[in-house]
Amino acid sequence: MTAPTQKPFDIAIVGGGIAGVTLVIGLLHNNVPVTLYEAAPRFGEIGAGVAFGPNAVRAMKLIDPRIAEGFAKVATQNQWESKRDLWFDFRYGDGTHAEKHGGEVRDLIHPLYCPGGQAFTHRAHFLDEMVKFVPDGVAVFGKRLVDIEDKGGEDGVLLKFADGSTARHSAVIGCDGIKSRTREILLGKDHPAARAVYSGKYAYRGLIPMDKAVELLGEELARNGQMYMGKGGHLLTFAIEKGKTMNVVAFSSSDSWDSDAWVVPTTKDKMMADFTGWSKSVESILTLMQKPDIWALFNHPPCETYYKGRVCVQGDAAHASTPHQGAGAGMAIEDSYILSNLVAAAKDASGIESAFKAFDAVRRERTQRLVKTSREAGQLYDFELPGVGDNVDKIKENLDGRMGWIWDEDLQAEFEKGKKLMNG
Ligand code: FAD
Repeated sequence: MTAPTQKPFDIAIVGGGIAGVTLVIGLLHNNVPVTLYEAAPRFGEIGAGVAFGPNAVRAMKLIDPRIAEGFAKVATQNQWESKRDLWFDFRYGDGTHAEKHGGEVRDLIHPLYCPGGQAFTHRAHFLDEMVKFVPDGVAVFGKRLVDIEDKGGEDGVLLKFADGSTARHSAVIGCDGIKSRTREILLGKDHPAARAVYSGKYAYRGLIPMDKAVELLGEELARNGQMYMGKGGHLLTFAIEKGKTMNVVAFSSSDSWDSDAWVVPTTKDKMMADFTGWSKSVESILTLMQKPDIWALFNHPPCETYYKGRVCVQGDAAHASTPHQGAGAGMAIEDSYILSNLVAAAKDASGIESAFKAFDAVRRERTQRLVKTSREAGQLYDFELPGVGDNVDKIKENLDGRMGWIWDEDLQAEFEKGKKLMNG
């Protein structure tokens, strides 16, 4: 058998998070030569959980079935068979609202089901599985991108790094996350959407050993996804590590964020104070969270393009979202499927711009819709959404119509549409 022919151009990827690594695998799968530049000294993810809906798992399979197989090894679903198809059980979290509506704290407001269920994992474990499919020499570490010169034609793009080195490639795709330098270069540093803005919410994150969680909450609440709603905040929990650990994210609100740092240490007292008057379940969960940090949640204002010439952005660099619909990383994986296949459809370097243009055309609306609706979801869970507030019937109705468009997407049709645009 003869080896498949490599494409007569090469792509640089900036950033080795979920977006960058899945894109590398997708491009290599399509015989596109690629080099990944990562600022950190090695691949690394934070020690927290991440959830993927069925759309994200389908995208993994479409990029390369090995990603989905690797994910299955480290993925955990709701632990009860009867709860496998559940997204979250939405419950009262704060006492005032439970009483007002004649319910007990912990009472179920609404179960929201997800076809096939969602799967949760530890971020670092998922990344470890994926980097197995990145051959030696493809990733170069300690390379912080500072500038790009886009000459086009035979010259392609010249990447400039903080250590003074440069690299030339046919085109570059920025997967450099919410603080993307590529985005800033592409849009211009004074563009109103060049940088992310504070969303009005911040989060505390933690991991709790499952046996401790069961002791405090009981089997049902500890082992299956829960969302505790209340005025000005909400708290979600789900099982990871095949049920050995319970992942916790507790959200609260503030009008502004004054620090340059987006993750700052805080005290347990401050965290507990944010949830004064909340249920015993919520209090117990918070008590078990050691050394809490506050994570300020930012998102990108919508921009009018994801590409310019031979420079493109995807993942959080293009559409960083708040996490309230648990779909930002899933959208990055979808991006990787569509973009790797569109780039592979280019015959030579002169066709890459059409691939970027088609990517922008098929992906921008969907991914920016996530940013917008995710922010609304944060308000919904905190009884702050205009026209809904704490009205239980309206909350149920809103939840039922909120997630289907994310989970049910036909990604192959999206790619075909992009390919037609490229050829048309
Ligand atoms: P990143 O993970 O930020 O990776 C960017 C990479 O680029 C990093 O490795 C960085 O070192 C590198 N880099 C940055 N700048 C440069 C530079 N100049 N030069 C070279 N390298 C550079 N999404 C979900 O789908 N499900 C969830 O359950 C979920 N939960 C979340 C919970 C919270 C609290 C938050 C904040 C987000 C959550 N998300 C979730 C969103 C998800 O985390 C992101 O969408 C996803 O991690 C983005 O991946 P990325 O690869 O685009 O960016």
